[in-house]
Amino acid sequence: MSVVPPPPWHERAVLTRRFGSLTVHALRSGFVSCKEAHRTLSVPDVLRLPAIVLDRRWTEWMPITSYVIEHPEGVFVVDPGQREDTHDASKLDCDEGTRWFYRHQLRLAFRAEERIDRRMQALGLDPERVRGVIVTHRHGDHADALSVLRSEHVYVGAADWPAHQGALVAHWPPAVVPTLVRATGRPFDEIPDSVPVTADGQLSVVLLSGHSPGHLGLVARADDGTRLLFAGDAVFSLAQLHGGVIAGICESPRDARATLRVLERQLRAHPTVLLPAHERDAWTRLDAGRLSHAP
Ligand SMILES: [Zn+2]
Repeated sequence: MSVVPPPPWHERAVLTRRFGSLTVHALRSGFVSCKEAHRTLSVPDVLRLPAIVLDRRWTEWMPITSYVIEHPEGVFVVDPGQREDTHDASKLDCDEGTRWFYRHQLRLAFRAEERIDRRMQALGLDPERVRGVIVTHRHGDHADALSVLRSEHVYVGAADWPAHQGALVAHWPPAVVPTLVRATGRPFDEIPDSVPVTADGQLSVVLLSGHSPGHLGLVARADDGTRLLFAGDAVFSLAQLHGGVIAGICESPRDARATLRVLERQLRAHPTVLLPAHERDAWTRLDAGRLSHAP
């Protein structure tokens, strides 16, 4: 029987970095571990789900990262992260298949002080006065803590609404009406579809489908010239992008590959700080303002 190592709670859980007039905070809301076959596809596409279930190898504990951006027009949040009941599969309010997956195919670790509203308050930011929340997709470790924020706008991919595979639909705060993001044909750099969310054009939501049908990301063009791409689960790591290998967990392998190619083109044409949700090295890159280049 394998012994599960404890999560590395001692690692830094808050990181703040300025880029011109933008201040970017990486905030951790606990850890997640999944099967290796969930993170990296190594079988033919049609076998991706059985491969996850049969895999006995668990990844290391990965941070669940929310990004909070202070912009002159207000505060923006990319993925609120998890809350108290996300990590407890016995309390999940969802269909049986989803509950089974969360219970047996994921490990989540959480401490109350890691919830995003508490993290924001500790930084002097008001969780009830948020300008925009970008829910990259509706998996519990990304979307659940939306219920502890108050935001003028909540952006969700139209194709992820009202549900997608594994979405914790019942955890959505009923009073929140999302702004649904569709393909616009308006590119941001190399990314085909974008919607600006600030009047100055510094922040735009982009479509990065594959992991979920309407998966979103956020791009920032800071006034010091730095580009940042908050990628959610569109790619799990820069190494994965360099290797050209998609994750095992994705609703559309074809779309996930197309998104990888888009990200590769983006990094080639416009070196960008790539910031996925679960990559420890993303924290190091953010700290250093290190640009990610194409392979
Ligand atoms: Zn996900």
